[in-house]
Amino acid sequence: MRLIVFGPPGAGKGTQAARLSAEFGIPQLSTGDILRAAVKAGTPTGLAAKAVMDAGGFVSDDIVVECVRQRLSEKDAELGFVLDGFPRTISQATALDALLEEKGAPIDAVLELTVDEDRLMARIEKRASDAVAKGEKPRSDDNAETVANRLAEYRVGTAPVADHYRELGKLFAVNGMEDVETVAANIRSALTEAGCIA
Ligand code: AMP
Repeated sequence: MRLIVFGPPGAGKGTQAARLSAEFGIPQLSTGDILRAAVKAGTPTGLAAKAVMDAGGFVSDDIVVECVRQRLSEKDAELGFVLDGFPRTISQATALDALLEEKGAPIDAVLELTVDEDRLMARIEKRASDAVAKGEKPRSDDNAETVANRLAEYRVGTAPVADHYRELGKLFAVNGMEDVETVAANIRSALTEAGCIA
């Protein structure tokens, strides 16, 4: 199963992608996680990405597409994967489509989590306070100013990616406003509609 979990920051992409990964035994590929790991490790990619991430902007398509290309060439991605946070631009989407076409293994479904904007900010604030409560450091981009930029980037740069997959008949809207279990059930319905599961 080759899936994309799509939606704005704070929609719950990471949570639901992790569940899909566990349920179907496919790797979760989060470009945000890959980039955060690169920043932490101080690699050249991390050094190039850090300032952009802290400002809530997009890391360059070239860097991100190369991260995904490398990850998808690993053995465990042969039987499927769930992408989270990628593609975020039309150019990334067309690069992904071309890469998968080469492999003869196109995307099966794009699951679009829809959540009202006023809820997104509250969810991200909760993610930051939950991290502090657990004694962890919150994400450096989970602050009001950066989140406002991330939402603006989403509206302009990322929302058109939904239209791209809608035109291909691969976009399935999922109500992402409910609790984690209900959203997971909504995703199952979408996967059934997409013909991915019986
Ligand atoms: P995320 O964990 O998906 O919220 O991503 C955190 C940050 O990483 C984003 O705000 C971007 O700065 C960067 N990032 C993650 N994925 C991408 C992508 N596909 N294209 C560009 N930048 C990305």
